[in-house]
Amino acid sequence: MIPLSDLYLQYKGIKKEIDTAIQSVIADSAFIGGKNNQYTKTFETAFSEYLGVKHTVGVGNGTDAIEIALLALGIENGDEVIVPAISWIATSEAVSNVGAKPVFADVLPNYYTIDPKEIEKKITDKTRAIIPVHLYGLSSEMDEIMGLSKKYKLFVIEDCAQAHGAIYKGKMVGTFGDAGTFSFFPGKNLGAYGDAGAIVTNKSELAEKCRLIANHGQEKKNVHMREGRNSRLDGIQSAILSVKLSHLPKWLARRKEIAKKYTKAFEQIKGMTVPTFPKYAEHTFHLFTIQVKNRKILQKKLHEAGIETGIHYPTALPFLAPYEKRHKKKEFPVAQKITSETLSLPLYPEITEKQISFVVKKIVELLS
Ligand SMILES: *Cc1c(COP(=O)(O)O)cnc(C)c1O
Repeated sequence: MIPLSDLYLQYKGIKKEIDTAIQSVIADSAFIGGKNNQYTKTFETAFSEYLGVKHTVGVGNGTDAIEIALLALGIENGDEVIVPAISWIATSEAVSNVGAKPVFADVLPNYYTIDPKEIEKKITDKTRAIIPVHLYGLSSEMDEIMGLSKKYKLFVIEDCAQAHGAIYKGKMVGTFGDAGTFSFFPGKNLGAYGDAGAIVTNKSELAEKCRLIANHGQEKKNVHMREGRNSRLDGIQSAILSVKLSHLPKWLARRKEIAKKYTKAFEQIKGMTVPTFPKYAEHTFHLFTIQVKNRKILQKKLHEAGIETGIHYPTALPFLAPYEKRHKKKEFPVAQKITSETLSLPLYPEITEKQISFVVKKIVELLS
């Protein structure tokens, strides 16, 4: 079976470094915090340098990262936050969890990211923030979004859970808005060996507030400035992430190379759409999703041929149970079409040329 991704294979390639890093945290008993919180600080510094941002605040996971950023910006009950109609539920869930209301905007038909024109239509006097999601590794249209944020005085939190190292007009995503949030869920392009996440920002005060909220409002031992929560990036995950961050550029380059091969091979096939993106963006291909009319049949046949595929995501956010009562069936036509047609293909840095050729051959065969 050719899987969608293979984390064990990745581990085997860096086993020595990872094992040494884990052993070192255990030897120091630096599981949470530890001496000067050294493992987490080391990763936070390296990640800030990589992105070109002033502060990284490690937290428990990517969902908490969004929630904590919202709380730190003072988003609360009665506020509205605009999110794209296609994402993983964490994006809208985080908004609801701080007491605010997620308001959905449809996406762009060619790029699948939030449509700036649709954002503007959804702005009311209750709107406080926009959360663009850099879906599948492609940046949202940040110039337009930052323009709206200025015009209407709205905060911007970039959900970068799928887009570590993705670039928009020469700059890393996560560095445009008030804050960027990352997930290091194991399957993401930069993944830990458990749950982990981070908030990045150039605003020192905001970073400090996030740090307080993530650690019980504690400024120093037994001094609690406010109530917060328990959402810390732990020692072992930090050490693993530091090792993996050093390999990330090479892994992202390989992802782009594989995506190029798929794109080239599929360009001529009728009835199938391959991912497109503007010249000013560097797509990092967390997912390579094609669009086909009869994806169920194709998925079944590929499965029979030993090729695993995925559907990200079968339902647009507004039509999930917690939100569907608020929406009419005909709203969000673009998201509706995309979510009924996308199919994600195997793509991970360790996939072999032979496997790529096999996937290509089978798809060409099945769709011709
Ligand atoms: C994975 C993901 C999250 C949530 O991250 P967790 O670490 O699993 O909490 C948020 N937003 C998007 C777009 C994601 O893909």
